[in-house]
Order: sequence, then structure tokens, then C-alpha cells
Amino acid sequence: MIYLDHAATTPIPQPVADEMYRVLTQQFGNPSSQYPMGQEAKKLVEGCRAVIAKAVGCQPKELHFTSCGTESDNWAIQAALWQNRHVGRHIITTSVEHSAVLETCRALEQQGYEVTYLKPDKTGHITVQQVGEALRDDTAVVSVMLVNNETGCVFPVAETARLLKERRSRALLHTDAVQGFMKVPCDPRVLGVDMMSLSAHKIGGPKGIGALYVGPAVRNIRPLLHGGGQEEGTRSGTEATAQIAGFAKAAQLRGEGLEEKLAHMAQIKAYCREKLLSLDGLVTVGQGEAPHILMVSLVGYPSANVVTDLGEQGICLSAGSACHRGKLSHVVTALGLDKRTAGGVLRVSFGPETTFADIDALYEALLRHKNTRFSML
Ligand code: PLP
Repeated sequence: MIYLDHAATTPIPQPVADEMYRVLTQQFGNPSSQYPMGQEAKKLVEGCRAVIAKAVGCQPKELHFTSCGTESDNWAIQAALWQNRHVGRHIITTSVEHSAVLETCRALEQQGYEVTYLKPDKTGHITVQQVGEALRDDTAVVSVMLVNNETGCVFPVAETARLLKERRSRALLHTDAVQGFMKVPCDPRVLGVDMMSLSAHKIGGPKGIGALYVGPAVRNIRPLLHGGGQEEGTRSGTEATAQIAGFAKAAQLRGEGLEEKLAHMAQIKAYCREKLLSLDGLVTVGQGEAPHILMVSLVGYPSANVVTDLGEQGICLSAGSACHRGKLSHVVTALGLDKRTAGGVLRVSFGPETTFADIDALYEALLRHKNTRFSML
């Protein structure tokens, strides 16, 4: 099997699975229990928090575990609106955020909030000027993702933080860094963000565990989940100890030789781009800078057919985001491509394990597809 869909999710390295199994079977105590087994579980959670915080570049107490990146996004935006309820009811985001942000905003619109969705240009980028033009006195939160999950475009998050400061805006700045974490620099203090969403399963960790960085400008973050008061009262729910242990192990492993891993992924991406561009009728889409995502289009060949055909040959990749199977994603739509290019969009995404031979196999499979199928769009 050739796995070229690391932006959808990543393979779990054996040491991560081993550590999760160890916690599940040997350290299964509830961190809230008073006896030694419970206290050991609590110690484990705090140790993991410290490991992940180090990888993020924040203090452990600034990192709150959640059930996934989606929960982190929902929580961040709603908590920011609560804190800034006296500032106003205006939100700025982009039209190409992950649906975890977009659907939160849509739900908020139904509650009377006003949302400005910034549109990308044809390369997939948005600019800080767009944020500046949309910013108002009643803007309560700005949510701009760090790396787009379909194009790989890096958005001007640090510039946005500077802009908010210059304009003395009271808006809180959130970034969805699910695709950026351990792919591009994302130290929250360097970026200047107030909140940052993370998810373990994009860096070799398990699905079903995420985190939210909450910086000093967010006072007493309002919980999304109410209950037993875990996470210092900020996020109720018994801590998912095995998932948390898997997250920490993945961050630690990915962090070993990270620069080399990222350089390797960037080389693979450059090789893949060059190789695929030699296919007649294949074009690149957008100009994503992230080292792990390449968006292309096999113009005129419906991407759902390509994905299915290649899948049958053991090659996994996506037509845009994995969450939008079957229909044009909102990101592809936002790029304003012509119908034949939009319909043929493919997302190839890489990990440290990806080899040049994987790319050669992808090339051969795409060539076979082209030679055996008619263009249908
Ligand atoms: N944000 C982005 C940019 C993503 O790519 C994803 C997952 O695909 C998410 C949020 C959601 O994360 P999770 O799958 O952990 O809910």
C-alpha cells in the first residue's frame, strides 16, 4: 500500500501504539482517583502535557486537552466570543477554513453573529490587508488557519497578530494549526495568537485527541463541556489517558530530527510536483508552501474516479479534503477554477515515511488511468 494522504490522517508508528497499549492495559487508572493508581495516571497526563507543550513552544498550563481538533476550533471561537461579548458580535474568518471553523461560524450566524469570510486569491492565499479591511470596532474574534488542509497555503497569522496590535483591536486571535503543527513554525508567542487548535492524528498520533493552546489574553476560558471539572475546570470529561500518551509519544518521535524530516518532505513534494507536471494535462493548483501538501488537477478527469481507481491499485490520496468525498470542496470552489480543472483536483500529501519510489508509483498509476479512461468533464 502506498499512502499519500497524510493531511487526512497519518500512520501510527509502533512506539506510539506500544505506549498506548501499555497505558490501556497497565496504567488504566482514572486521573481523578485519589489512590496511587489514579495519581500515577494524573502524573502521566501532566508529563504528556509537558512533552506536547515543549513541541508547541508554550507552558504546560496553557495547553488544554480536547477530544479532537474540531472540538478545539469550536471551543476557541465560542470562548473568545464569550470573553468579548461586550466588544461586539462580529467574526472574521476565511472562506477556506476547515469545516470545524466554518460550521461553527454558520451556527453562530443563526444566533445573530455576523461573520466576514475572507476569500482567497487564485493561488489559495489571503492577505493581511484583507483582514485589515474587514476589521471593525465590534470584531470580537479573528480566526485564520495556519496552513490550509487542501492547498497547503500558509496564511499570514503573525502579520494578522501584528495588525490587531497596531489597530489596538480587542479581537482575540485564534488559529487552527491542525495542519501547521510540526510542519511549519507555530510557536504561539512568535505567531502572537491567543488560541491555537491542535490535533494528534496529523503527526503520527491517534485520532480522537486534540489540544487547545490558551494564551494569557484569554482570561478564565469559558468551558464548552460542563461536568466533573477536569483540566482545572476548563474541560470536563475523564482524561483520555491512552490517547494523551499516544499524542505525547507522537510529538516526541516526530520532534526527533524534525528539520531533516521536513526537508525530506519538501524534497518529496518538489520531486512529485516535477514528475506529475510531466504528465500531459496535469497542472498544479494553488501555491501551497507547506512541505506536506501538494494540490494538482488532472484536468478533465473526475477526481472521484481517479481516487477510486488508484485506491484499487493500493494508492491512497484525496480529491481535496477527505471530509468532502464526492462533491467539490468549498476550498476548490473558492479558488474559482474552471469546471474541468476543479473537477480533476487531487491532493497528494506526504509524511516523513514517504519515498521517491512512492511518487514514481503514483506517476505510473496516473499515467495508466489517463491512458485507459476517457476525459469526462
Ligand atoms: N482543522 C484542520 C485544518 C484539519 O485539517 C482538520 C482535520 O482534517 C481538523 C481541523 C479537524 O481535526 P480532527 O480530525 O482532530 O477533528
